[in-house]
Amino acid sequence: MQNSKFLYLALILMGFNPSFAQLGNQFVEQLLKDSIRIQQEELRGQRLQEYISNNSNDSIASIAIGSPAKGKLVHGKLIDFKGPNYQYFDSISYMSGRAFVHEKVKLLIEHSYARMAVAYPDRTFYVMECSRKHGGPMFPHKTHQNGLSVDFMTPFLKAGRPYSDLDTLGANHYWIECDDQGRLTTDTQIKIDFNSVAQHLIYLQEEALKLGMSVEKVIFKLELKDELFSCEVGQDLKTKQLYFAKKLSPTINNLHDDHYHVDFRFN
Ligand SMILES: [Zn+2]
Repeated sequence: MQNSKFLYLALILMGFNPSFAQLGNQFVEQLLKDSIRIQQEELRGQRLQEYISNNSNDSIASIAIGSPAKGKLVHGKLIDFKGPNYQYFDSISYMSGRAFVHEKVKLLIEHSYARMAVAYPDRTFYVMECSRKHGGPMFPHKTHQNGLSVDFMTPFLKAGRPYSDLDTLGANHYWIECDDQGRLTTDTQIKIDFNSVAQHLIYLQEEALKLGMSVEKVIFKLELKDELFSCEVGQDLKTKQLYFAKKLSPTINNLHDDHYHVDFRFN
């Protein structure tokens, strides 16, 4: 850390020397990478607690305005970075103000994971991007605007056993690619844990109903839906009759294998 910082400073100083121009693109690229890494290390190490205390949740009721695709969030609540059996997936995303939700969505997420702890003890689940504190557009998402949209990380199995190595990739988790059976393209032994996805969706819907809400829409890669509904828990999921997006652009479709996107609504 100290060494890379020193190197970074040295490179900055070299920037004032005309010979810097001859160092080539690769070097500049490395410089950029280093500065990003340093920034990330600093954010991780020193600022997470500070961010959490600067954004402590008020007790004023949240208001979701408009729709997930065009909306705002008033008195949004920051979800916990680390819950008993769940965690937010990326500290940079968290501290960039992308982990806010409507208070009732925060509650139903907590309730759903409390039930997941019973069904799947010793597992940690991950919440991915949510909304901005005051909602509104959040690139590259088309929705996530009014605190009612949440991305949940898809848990994986390797040779039938829980596999957590992919869970800590942070923002890079969004780029994981699976085939149409939900197997990792780079290692087909690693497969989506469809049962736990189905179970979580069931709990999300049941807990939403208790709070006067429901799942409005699930976005999950179209080719994986038959796998999801044909697994053991998928049979129960069918009875919930959740609405799954039926048409997705190739880009959006391909992005929704490593996570399932859920929009909630008020009943
Ligand atoms: Zn999403």
